[in-house]
Amino acid sequence: MKQNRRNFIKSTFLVTLASMFGIREIYSAKNIIRNKGTKMKLRFKPYTLELKHTFTVAVSSRKTTPVMLIEIEYDGIIGYGEASMPPYLGETQETASSFLSKVNLEQFDDPFELEKILEYIDSIDKKNTAAKASVDIALHDLVGKLLNKPWYKLWGLDKSKTPYTSFTIGIDTPEIVRQKVREAEEFKILKVKLGRQNDKEMIEAIRSVTDKPLTADANQGWKDKHYALDMIHYLKENNVIYIEQPMPKEMIDENAWITQNSPIPVLGDESIQRLDDLIKMKDVYSGVVIKLMKCTGMREAYKMINLAKSLGIKVMLGCMTETSCAISAAAQLSPMVDWGDLDGALLIKNDPFDGIKVIDGKVTLNDFPGIGLKS
Ligand code: MG
Repeated sequence: MKQNRRNFIKSTFLVTLASMFGIREIYSAKNIIRNKGTKMKLRFKPYTLELKHTFTVAVSSRKTTPVMLIEIEYDGIIGYGEASMPPYLGETQETASSFLSKVNLEQFDDPFELEKILEYIDSIDKKNTAAKASVDIALHDLVGKLLNKPWYKLWGLDKSKTPYTSFTIGIDTPEIVRQKVREAEEFKILKVKLGRQNDKEMIEAIRSVTDKPLTADANQGWKDKHYALDMIHYLKENNVIYIEQPMPKEMIDENAWITQNSPIPVLGDESIQRLDDLIKMKDVYSGVVIKLMKCTGMREAYKMINLAKSLGIKVMLGCMTETSCAISAAAQLSPMVDWGDLDGALLIKNDPFDGIKVIDGKVTLNDFPGIGLKS
């Protein structure tokens, strides 16, 4: 009798909700009742990305990238996340594993409490930004799937405003550079890695094959501000649209001087990891490179993009070599930014995910819920 009365009250409650909010919300209300006591479960496994080309930047050279793939399961639905950890950034599969072992999501009843959950994740340990990003991405994927909506829609963004992605040409011999440029025919913008002795040779090799706009990244490789500014003028003459991180991040005054005198935007990348760095560096650079693996994920990236826009700072949304999981997550934010460099999944041979694509050089969103993975 008691049971019948409880069921009656429950159905009356649902019917009232139905009349107030419509059918979809009844389904959600049913889920809420069913989910009482359901807990989020976190799983993770290491994975090694095999790169198509040996990747050389000013400070290192490599053929693989270690990542950690994670899943958060809640009520039969799985959210996917990824930590990508290029060796020079200090995280490894061991540090990520140790960090993720400390995460206890079972203390939270509601995956929708992103702010509370992610503040807890951030408080577990210092740094570990890629490991933190993996949890952030999986939670966003899960929440989007529970709502049956992709994040660009939840944020109210215009799908047609996604950027063209640049495609990175690593430092190499002129012959290989020319070959890579020819292979990148689909892309409307190319990114060139500079900061070694052969900068002009790199630009000349590219310009012997194409007149497409370029972007350039010195990766802190230039050590003298006058040399750097001369190079930037040379780059401007060669249709380079912005320069990333001309000098070491510790050389704040020199970088600020370059920004003041540069004919093209100067973007802080290594200098600006998280939201508080953006606040500190707001007068040093005219642009910022935001990457999920640096800033702990989609939630902080969204805050950073909004702050940068309100300060009149240009935003480039970048990535590491990553699978389509982390790239799809970043792509959800991409209608908000000035430039995109989301070619990470195109540089690897063994992508285990199918998600957001680059079509004719443009980041092209789909309407799969969450971060846009097909699963
Ligand atoms: Mg960079």
